[in-house]
Amino acid sequence: MSFSIHGLAVARGIAIGRAVLVASSRVDVAHYFIDAKQVDEEIQRLGLARDAVKAELQELHDTLPKDSPPELSAILEVHLMLLQDEMLADGVTHWIKDRLYNAEWALTSQLDVVARQFDEMDDAYLRERKGDLEQVVERVLRHMKGDVHMTPMPAQRRQTGARQQDLLLEDQMDVPLVLVAHDLSPADMLQFKQSVFTGFVTDVGGKTSHTAIVARSLDIPAVVGARTASQLVRQDDWIIIDGDAGVVLVNPSPIILAEYGFKQRQAEVERERLSRLRHTPAVTLDGQKVELLSNIEMPEDAASALSVGSVGVGLFRSEFLFMGRVDNLPDEEEQYLAYRKAVEGMKGLPVTIRTVDIGADKPLDRSHKEEDHLNPALGLRAIRWSLADPDMFLTQLRAILRAAAHGQVHLLIPMLAHVQEIKQTLVLLEKARHQLDVRGDRYGPLKIGAMIEIPAAALMVKTFLRYFDFLSIGTNDLIQYTLAIDRADESVAHLYDPLHPAVLRLVADTIAESNAQGKSVCVCGEMAGDPTLTRLLLGLGLRSFSMHPTQVLAVKQEVLRADVKRLEPWAQGVLASDNPAEAVLH
Ligand code: PEP
Ligand code: MG
Repeated sequence: MSFSIHGLAVARGIAIGRAVLVASSRVDVAHYFIDAKQVDEEIQRLGLARDAVKAELQELHDTLPKDSPPELSAILEVHLMLLQDEMLADGVTHWIKDRLYNAEWALTSQLDVVARQFDEMDDAYLRERKGDLEQVVERVLRHMKGDVHMTPMPAQRRQTGARQQDLLLEDQMDVPLVLVAHDLSPADMLQFKQSVFTGFVTDVGGKTSHTAIVARSLDIPAVVGARTASQLVRQDDWIIIDGDAGVVLVNPSPIILAEYGFKQRQAEVERERLSRLRHTPAVTLDGQKVELLSNIEMPEDAASALSVGSVGVGLFRSEFLFMGRVDNLPDEEEQYLAYRKAVEGMKGLPVTIRTVDIGADKPLDRSHKEEDHLNPALGLRAIRWSLADPDMFLTQLRAILRAAAHGQVHLLIPMLAHVQEIKQTLVLLEKARHQLDVRGDRYGPLKIGAMIEIPAAALMVKTFLRYFDFLSIGTNDLIQYTLAIDRADESVAHLYDPLHPAVLRLVADTIAESNAQGKSVCVCGEMAGDPTLTRLLLGLGLRSFSMHPTQVLAVKQEVLRADVKRLEPWAQGVLASDNPAEAVLH
């Protein structure tokens, strides 16, 4: 049956492929492909966990106090039975052997298949056994936790096609795959980087949720906020992801498939055309030079930044080195090597390293989410987290200072709102320098900048400029905090508006004040990479944009066509308008 699902368009383009479902689980589950050689080991790992749970349940059953209600014993028996259920065991083996899923992924995939069968049962008693099954699987997963041997995704396979059969069933060789999940953490997304997937769909997430941001950086069509997609789509369904319209078409007719195939080829031609702008300097028609920088998540991304001709890194989100590492945060040496790799990778061009921005939708560990009744976006996030743990922060500052001995490094501090936080940060930076002096370690000079991403910071930009060499406007959070819209919540995504007059006012004033004082100001939020907003930002006086490497050339095309002299009065009109979107987008 064909049907369509509507979500939010977050990463452009068309993807066509078969669905791979990543079932959600209450336990934080790693998803990765194993090597064909590891199949037996993986099946054995699962078997050991299952035996351990079996022994545990049996022990519980045998030692039940005599006066305990008979239902308790019956429940344990049901759990033991489910644990040994053939459909569960055989299915899991299939996912491991034929698809090379790691054991945890295989187990949750099969849970999803069996749970759907429970849902379809007429008998209410049997339907309710789904909950028992989930509990049993959760127990097994908990046993396996801490026993994870991560194998990176097989990056080469798609390119070479040589080992494609390792990933797919015989009859599916060379079939592109799209990933469908309830939710993917930014860390999951990062793990899927360079993977075999040609598209992503998630039930949850807003346009500038970090999951969406990473999807964009992968340059793979993606739709988030597709609500029930992971329940409606089944493994192996054919899927079209229209990343421009935010639509997912499931099991489309041959005519629709042909139409989207055509669109896909057209997009390819457009990409090819844009790539010719790679070496063209970003200068407007009236001769204004514009700096186009890249946002990166990992040091290796420096290569993509260079490949599109960006003139530096405007935002290195260092927290991606920390995520999923709750029990072993990267030490100074590991961080130093990572920052140095990014700096050397940029071959003399500047690299802006933002100190860790953990919290909100980038928790250190998904199973350690802040309590549900708290709002993590307003909690101990970014610089607040760093200042709460000075040793951790000093470690990062020393690593960045040392990396600065190898090239131009700018230090960027996220989420500042209070002068006190600025002062504490600067004191710790001085202390980090002192510690390196005492150790006799080499370090380099840094330009220090602040992110303007809380309205309070934008409103006191003059004060900020007294302390910092440069500013960088984080529009993703600035919009979230100005409009009180959780950027990760798809239910309020329609209210998340970069062109809201209040947002534009804060952005415009920050740019104008920095320019007036001769200090550099950049926009590094998603607004910078949206070509429909380039003219407006140029008209407001912005000359430095930082975005995903994949967006640089489209923005450059807009810069090359812009005449700033004419855009300036127009931009002031937009700023004064009640409905800026009408003026900018129509
Ligand atoms: C922003 O808030 O605009 C920004 C660039 O930082 P992040 O998206 O990582 O919060
Ligand atoms: Mg931010």
